[in-house]
Amino acid sequence: MGNRHQALDRFADGAQFIGGRLRPGTSGRTQDVVDPATGETAYRYELASTADVDAAVAAAKGAFPEWAGATPGERSDALHRFASVLGDQAGDLARVESLQCGKPIRLTTEFDVPGTVDNTAFFAGAARQLPGQSAGEYSGDHTSYVRREPIGVIGSIAPWNYPLQMAAWKILPAVAAGNTIVLKPAEITPLTSLMFAEAAKAAGIPDGVVNIVSGAGPDAGERLVGHPDVAMTSFTGSTAVGRRVAEIATSTVKRLHLELGGKAPFVVFDDADPRAAIEGAVAGSLINSGQDCTAATRVYVQRPLYEELVSGIADLMATVRVGDPFDPATDLGPLVSHAHRDRVAGFVERARGYATVVTGGVVPPGAGAYYPPTLVAGAAQDSEIVQSELFGPVIAILPFDSDDEGIALANDTPYGLAASAWTRDVFRANRATRELAAGCVWINDHIPIISEMPHGGLRASGFGKDMSVYSFEEYTQVKHVMFDNTAVARKDWHRTVFGDR
Ligand code: NAD
Repeated sequence: MGNRHQALDRFADGAQFIGGRLRPGTSGRTQDVVDPATGETAYRYELASTADVDAAVAAAKGAFPEWAGATPGERSDALHRFASVLGDQAGDLARVESLQCGKPIRLTTEFDVPGTVDNTAFFAGAARQLPGQSAGEYSGDHTSYVRREPIGVIGSIAPWNYPLQMAAWKILPAVAAGNTIVLKPAEITPLTSLMFAEAAKAAGIPDGVVNIVSGAGPDAGERLVGHPDVAMTSFTGSTAVGRRVAEIATSTVKRLHLELGGKAPFVVFDDADPRAAIEGAVAGSLINSGQDCTAATRVYVQRPLYEELVSGIADLMATVRVGDPFDPATDLGPLVSHAHRDRVAGFVERARGYATVVTGGVVPPGAGAYYPPTLVAGAAQDSEIVQSELFGPVIAILPFDSDDEGIALANDTPYGLAASAWTRDVFRANRATRELAAGCVWINDHIPIISEMPHGGLRASGFGKDMSVYSFEEYTQVKHVMFDNTAVARKDWHRTVFGDR
């Protein structure tokens, strides 16, 4: 193991964080965390067994009464300290996230880590503002009010594309609302989720409130979803696995929050600023090497601007510096793994049979899991490259004629996570916000997120919200409390049982 892996000594005790301490898994099976820039194994650990999941759920269950009983102010204080600890560890978090994912250090330093610290600070504030509503004498004979309560133990499952941010998005609203949690990160990228949990402990969040099980999907994951002491499943990942998770959660009658795949359209009307659209398409498709559920993947351009956009995007893609994630000059790192890179390359190879690869599309030589920025033109709307989530630095670009057609094409996939429209016409922009079927619609931009606003999908992209106060709708339940105000033994409504006696 080279020097760039030395920081991983901190995980010498194992990759399971249960009841406030790191320990090894007990499945008897090992998993490598591979540096995708070199192909070297950076860290090897023992995967969680179903017994480890049971131990983590037991720790979370044991911690729940005290944490749920803490005042909002106490939880808020702990989360403020948590944000501060994360801020102190920003450099380490960025380096480890870059190492396990291949993300450029510029991205982890300027986006993943500060976004996570900001999200933590947001939920520190939001924890104090969780009102019940609707207090009043609605029946005339009673006082009613609503209590907003935590749900219990949350079981969360996260993907590999933004491991730190996904851990934050799952853990923070759950914990701010008084729940305890067991999170299963993707088995190839567990390290920053473990650092996040250790930072929670360092901030004084009690042992057992945040637990991490690093295990495989079909055993540890399914045990976590089906566990009888888990009250809610929150899952971020592919639509295919989301369906399986939903089946198990439904059969055990759990509350469910699903953040699934996407295939975001990017619709350029003929009055748009072409330069802004070119810059936006390239940045919006290449961020995180395109391994972003909201990445700009389908660029639809109204016919008068089409040729300009094709050449402009290809030219700008050619300027992108592909290289070592630890070089601050690198724009585009490798994909997360060699297997995933080969999967992305397969989509583009198959597309050569029905479309034109304008730029990119060739796997470079060398040990890293690199793939170049790639533009594919001339594919049909119903083709694989337009319809399937490929999760790499690849744009499919298509022309359209009327506004109706542009919006119809944009909506023509099963997904509904994010979309953008590019225009300087306020009526076109407003129509796009109404008619694009997505949980987020940007106008003249594509990608930005912000802690105060919700993130989540429609249709095959799932349901429920991460971030913002809207996430509390997932992680709390409301209870109606009704007080009798008459103090009489035989109430008016008892007539329905006793008649006029
Ligand atoms: P994935 O669905 O393969 O895996 C996600 C998680 O599910 C992993 O932790 C995995 O171990 C686990 N898992 C696998 N099989 C399981 C099973 N049978 N039971 C329980 N858990 C199981 O997804 P991925 O490849 O890690 O991530 C990429 C996907 O995530 C893309 O589809 C992307 O769009 C999606 N994603 C969505 C959002 C969003 O907010 N909607 C955000 C990030 C990523």
